[in-house]
Amino acid sequence: MTSNFKIINKEFKTALNKLKYPDSWFWCRYTINPYSGCAHTCIYCDARSQRYYLNQDFEREVIVKTNMDKILDKRIKNSRTLLPDVIGPGGVCDAYQPIELEVENTLKILKVIEKHRFPVNIATKSDLIIRDAEILNRIAKDTWCTVGFSITTMNEELAQFLEPHSSSPKERLAALSQIKKKAPNVQVGTYFMPIIPFLEDTDENLDAVIKKSKEAGADFIIFSPGLTLRDAQADFFFKKLKESKYNHVVKPLLNLYKGQLSPPKDYVDNMYQKLLALCQKYEVAVKVKRWIPKDYRKWNYKISELLLVKDYMDKLTSGKSNKSFYWAGLHLNNLEESIINVYKRGELVTLKNFNSKVIKFVEPYLKRSKEMNEKTGMDKFI
Ligand code: SF4
Repeated sequence: MTSNFKIINKEFKTALNKLKYPDSWFWCRYTINPYSGCAHTCIYCDARSQRYYLNQDFEREVIVKTNMDKILDKRIKNSRTLLPDVIGPGGVCDAYQPIELEVENTLKILKVIEKHRFPVNIATKSDLIIRDAEILNRIAKDTWCTVGFSITTMNEELAQFLEPHSSSPKERLAALSQIKKKAPNVQVGTYFMPIIPFLEDTDENLDAVIKKSKEAGADFIIFSPGLTLRDAQADFFFKKLKESKYNHVVKPLLNLYKGQLSPPKDYVDNMYQKLLALCQKYEVAVKVKRWIPKDYRKWNYKISELLLVKDYMDKLTSGKSNKSFYWAGLHLNNLEESIINVYKRGELVTLKNFNSKVIKFVEPYLKRSKEMNEKTGMDKFI
């Protein structure tokens, strides 16, 4: 655990990273990393790749960003333009890795998030998150909170090999149930990603992860077939595989990927269909319900969600992605007025990627919202 890790305390100058567009899996608009490095040391972790520029020994060091809560507080307090939106603590670290028990950096950040009424989405492999059930429930009640446990196999031995220092899959499922019980306002589920070909993509494992998640109380399962294989991360992963009892999958993996970052489309499409069918069988949602702001962005976010979910569902069912729906959905998050006003002016066509198909899809919703508003004087949801 962390005992083998060198813990370095360090102050940083910035806390919050704003994404150009919210991501359509977690709906995060901002990310914040309480730590740099991660003592969970999953052998497939992408933080090892060069794109994250982690200037440290990932296998031996964790940097505690000691002033994150204070600079986050200052950043939100001093900014006139920073609108509340979903913050994702973690990303290139697990916010609940073992050192969190001692230093409570994530908890301190959650207190600032709660104070400023920002919504939050946390992905973790640790059952330590149960400690924060109360504050997460309060955030969920006040704005929105989603917790996803990253679970990719029900085989404890394989999990121990892939993710040597995190809670076991059984412990994560138990934590999921605990969050559901202690924090009923929180949307909770499983991030079934990455699903590693030849190790975790058997029908038996897909069924087990989804079935067990549902039994534990999952509201959603977000899945992603395949593992991205990138430079230093891929080298480390293959080195570990070759040294292990799982070395027989090295060759099939190389044959499947053929030097690419991801598995081929026909593999992914086939997996999507299986995963979707299982989620339907166990009646669990394949998307996280989005946080909707109460200000002028309300309809922009709602319509954006509809477009992005449509694109996603088309991709899952037919393997075809409609790029204009996807990009129209993303761009809409950056519109600086309500889409209702644009609609009333008859100018939908001026919005980025709003072609005739997109307009035909969104118009009935906008029409209803306008009628509803005129009839009731209230801005009702769809
Ligand atoms: S928990 Fe996440 S950030 Fe930490 S090592 Fe594993 S994959 Fe990387």
